[in-house]
Amino acid sequence: MDNKSQRIGKGYFGRVLHVDLSTSAISYQEPDEAFYQKYLGGLGLGAKVLWDRIKPGVDPMGPDNVLGFTTGLLTDTGSLFTGRFNVVGKSPLTGGWGDANCGGHFSPALKRCGLDGLFFHGASPEPVYLYLDDQSAELRSAAALWGGDAAETEKQLQARYGNRAHVACIGPAGERLSFIAGVCNDAGRLAARSGLGGVMGSKKLKAVVAAGTRRVGVADGNRIQALSKAFRKRLEGRKGLKRFLGDRLFGFMGWATRKGPLYTRQPPDLWRLMLSKYGTAALTAFSAESGDSPVKNWGGVGYRDFPLNRSQKIGAEAVMKYETKKYGCFSCPLRCGAFVKIPDGPYPIEKMHRPEYESLSAFGTLLLNHDLQTIFRVNDLLNRAGMDTISCGAVVAFAIECFENGILTSNDTDGLELRWGDGGAIIKLTEMIIERQGLGHILADGVKLAAESIGQGSEAFAVHCGGMEAPMHDPKFDPGFGMAYSCEPAPGRHSVSSYMLLDLERLDRLFRGAKKTPAFMTAKERYRYDNKGEAMALGSFFRMLVDAAGACTFGCQVGADIPLIQWLNAATGWNFSDQDYLVIGERIEQLRHAFNVREGLNPSRDFRLHPRISGHPPLDKGPAKGVSLDLEGMAEAFYKAMGWDLSTGLPDPERLERLKLDEVVAALHPDRSQRSGA
Ligand code: SF4
Repeated sequence: MDNKSQRIGKGYFGRVLHVDLSTSAISYQEPDEAFYQKYLGGLGLGAKVLWDRIKPGVDPMGPDNVLGFTTGLLTDTGSLFTGRFNVVGKSPLTGGWGDANCGGHFSPALKRCGLDGLFFHGASPEPVYLYLDDQSAELRSAAALWGGDAAETEKQLQARYGNRAHVACIGPAGERLSFIAGVCNDAGRLAARSGLGGVMGSKKLKAVVAAGTRRVGVADGNRIQALSKAFRKRLEGRKGLKRFLGDRLFGFMGWATRKGPLYTRQPPDLWRLMLSKYGTAALTAFSAESGDSPVKNWGGVGYRDFPLNRSQKIGAEAVMKYETKKYGCFSCPLRCGAFVKIPDGPYPIEKMHRPEYESLSAFGTLLLNHDLQTIFRVNDLLNRAGMDTISCGAVVAFAIECFENGILTSNDTDGLELRWGDGGAIIKLTEMIIERQGLGHILADGVKLAAESIGQGSEAFAVHCGGMEAPMHDPKFDPGFGMAYSCEPAPGRHSVSSYMLLDLERLDRLFRGAKKTPAFMTAKERYRYDNKGEAMALGSFFRMLVDAAGACTFGCQVGADIPLIQWLNAATGWNFSDQDYLVIGERIEQLRHAFNVREGLNPSRDFRLHPRISGHPPLDKGPAKGVSLDLEGMAEAFYKAMGWDLSTGLPDPERLERLKLDEVVAALHPDRSQRSGA
């Protein structure tokens, strides 16, 4: 590989690798500048390649699916919070667009191989891994690695190639083609959602090893450094709240929780303090109490079924006692991650990532389990197996409720008694799911398929959004999550947009003309949607930009006005306005949605929220008592803002033309395309 693309100096290499695993053929795509100006990179690159190269109707677990890894345009340019990678492919869970996102150190390592992304086609007859460095891209046998857990696989590959090499790999869950498997890096951090670890397993691809040393060039490195320095200063300089609260952070949060609405509208400074001290574990007890966390498989109420004296046992302060060391992803000044050590007890663990809020809630609040030791154990098992903790928690909850209601008996569970809050049974069932043993075989592909297989009315307990298990934020508490879970191209995702996220991101400060979301909403306003579509759409476009840049969403939520657009211009040498970047964000969003429509999916029909999520019937107690979400009203508002037809999902062709997505017009509106002679 020559150094030509590096000399371009625009934050990207202009080089994308395609590997055909069926034939071992390797080829390069060299997108021009116009491509990057349209799609930026990262998730945008993934969306364009998948649109171009996946034929509609292919089996997600078959060789015709394409699995991509993309790094962000800003990754390794000197910008901050920009070390995340995306994994993309057709999702086996939804049958449509799939993506997952992860921090750690794999993304810059991949970029240092002189690549903006790599895509796998076909399927290998034997287990392989891809080795990459400055010069090479080689498929090598993974026979000796197959069967190993994710942490062990990474360790072995780093022993072979040195610590400079970073590894993305699957564990046994991906090898066993679980639909809820993810892709790991940094010894158990997962790009968890969409079931793309199972897709990787279907291709017999165990790992990607990135051992490059190339540094991408940028247009104005000094400007990037100056922007980063000023941003860091803004982050560090906002100490007022910290000084004021001191050790009273948790006391303040307790008060805010009781005030409910304030908790949903938490100041970014507070969120930053919580993240840097406790990580996302900070949310656990408060979310259980406030109505944010789903309780007892979405049928319970925090303060009745899992009150503070229980949720605090799995809350941040309980978790902190085991913390050994904080860490951050590549280029992160906030460092919200930490390792823990469990020195004794029934499940000692030498070193493990501190569980995130989603995992603590999915194996705690959702299952009425306040035994932290068992959550640690399950977290370690799933990180090593490479399985999504959200989805796995949801299938365990489903199985327990089926058992409690006599749909499953001990004959179906190999004698295991499944009861709420029984940590030992939860661990055993998790092991069975990972190993696809007995009932675990059915559960390993998610709740939707499990309910279809078990029948007997079990779908009442299979809580999902279009096949994707729902995250640990109840839309009855923040209806913005409901709009995102049910309308976004990747359904059931908590990281795209919500009222809370919009408030934290302060998009009115980043984009001209964007309205500031009100800090407080009356209950009536909270459940009114006709005036929320535009704001939620803006949140989606912004999120596309964030994922195209390779940025961390938390960096955008901590009250220091992340200079994303200025960094992008300094890296590329372009002089694009905030509005120009929003157009790019919308283009990526529309392309992902078009992918689904081409597959015959329409979110308002196919991603409809499970009745328990939407409150049909409503809960009888708690902060969300009596709330039933108007899903039609949500879809109407969001579709209008997006220009999507409510009954078919088809995107407005004029809007697609304005976005220069002519290939999408040709595929979805062939009559119009022929009339215009395109
Ligand atoms: S805030 Fe947390 S998740 Fe985001 S880049 Fe930093 S360490 Fe990673």
